[in-house]
Formats: sequence, C-alpha cells, structure tokens
Amino acid sequence: MKVDSHIVTGGLVGALVTARYPGLNIVQAFGYESWQFLDTLITGVILTVVSIFAATVADAPLVAQVKVDDRKKRPRFSAELDPNFEDSVWYSLKSMSHSFLWWLIALITSWQVHHPVWSPILTAVFVGLASHWFIDLFTHCHPQFKRTDQDMIWPFGDLFQLFGKDIPKLSHIVKKVTGIGIEYRQNITPGLDPYANTEPMVWETAFQVTGSILWGCLVLLILA
Ligand SMILES: [Zn+2]
Repeated sequence: MKVDSHIVTGGLVGALVTARYPGLNIVQAFGYESWQFLDTLITGVILTVVSIFAATVADAPLVAQVKVDDRKKRPRFSAELDPNFEDSVWYSLKSMSHSFLWWLIALITSWQVHHPVWSPILTAVFVGLASHWFIDLFTHCHPQFKRTDQDMIWPFGDLFQLFGKDIPKLSHIVKKVTGIGIEYRQNITPGLDPYANTEPMVWETAFQVTGSILWGCLVLLILA
C-alpha cells in the first residue's frame, strides 16, 4: 500500500506492543526517575517510532527511486518500463528490502533476547517489519505489475533467475492460489506513473481512517 498506510499500521502495532508490556518504563530502566505517566508516554512514543520506522523502511528504495526520477525530470518509475528491470539495481534494492527474512530475523531475535528494554524494542521492530510484508503480500496482485513487483522472498527469487526461470512473485502466487488480494494501485496505462496515482483507493482511505481511530483509542487506553 501507500507509505502513509504503512505509517498508520506501524503506529498501531507500536501502540499494541506498548499495551503488551504494561508497566514498562524505558526511561526508568535507564536509571532515570520520573513520573509514571511521563514514563509510559515516552515508552509508548519510543516503541511507536521504532515500529513506524520498521513498517516503512522497506519502501525506502522506492522513495529514493522517485527522488532520482524527479531530479532527472523523467516520469516516476520509468525504469520499470525497461523489459530488463528485474536486472536493475532498483529491483534488487526493493526485492531485498521486502524480504520476509528481515521480520523472521527480528522475530527470532526478540524470542532469544530477554531484556527489559531490548525485548519490547525488538518486538516493535518485528511487528513493524511484518506489518509491511503482510500488507504488501495482499496488495500487490494486479497482473500489470507482475513483472516489476518485488518477489518478497529475496534472495531465493534470484535463484530461479540463475536457472533461467521467471522470478516467482509471492503476492501474485497468493492471489492466484487463494484468490485473496486487493490491488492498491489503480489500473492505469502502463508507463504512466502507476505508483504516484493521485487518488488513493476508497478502501485504502477507509483503512487509514479506521487505523488512525484504533490508534487513538489504544493510546488513550494505555495512558488511562
Ligand atoms: Zn512496500
């Protein structure tokens, strides 16, 4: 989905992690005495910022791609028109950043580490990374983008290419096999800036509104 949807989800899961560790006070854990209310607030902000970062970092290569396109005054994502786009640095970067490996590593690490501060932070990293991966898994499924979409299984997708086969795109396979998936990009003419389409889909706007309301409710609950 669009970056702002990942930000909303990151905040929501960050608040959920905060709620999962009641009484956690990162500030006090570092040896500073302060008011309980302030501690809970600061702890919540830290975990939320961490999970928002983790929930959005996968799209960093796409943001960079847009910046370079804008600077070179060419249509955004024009690199994707190249039939050999899957051999480009841009494809490698987004494939890497969208790999399931990152949230799996964060999950295993958060299981292994038993520390009053690092455990919740690692959990926030895990839920942030996983939220992006799972959202993208079910929102990249239009055949128009099959060639240029990330495989989500880096580095294993590249192995198929080594053996002369097409790189399997996990989100498209999921859609084909289960029928589950809603494309977040509007179906417009290829080559016309498909990612930067101005109007977000209605359901994505609904997702953002619902997520923001839930986020607000959770924060109030945590602070109460
Ligand atoms: Zn993404």
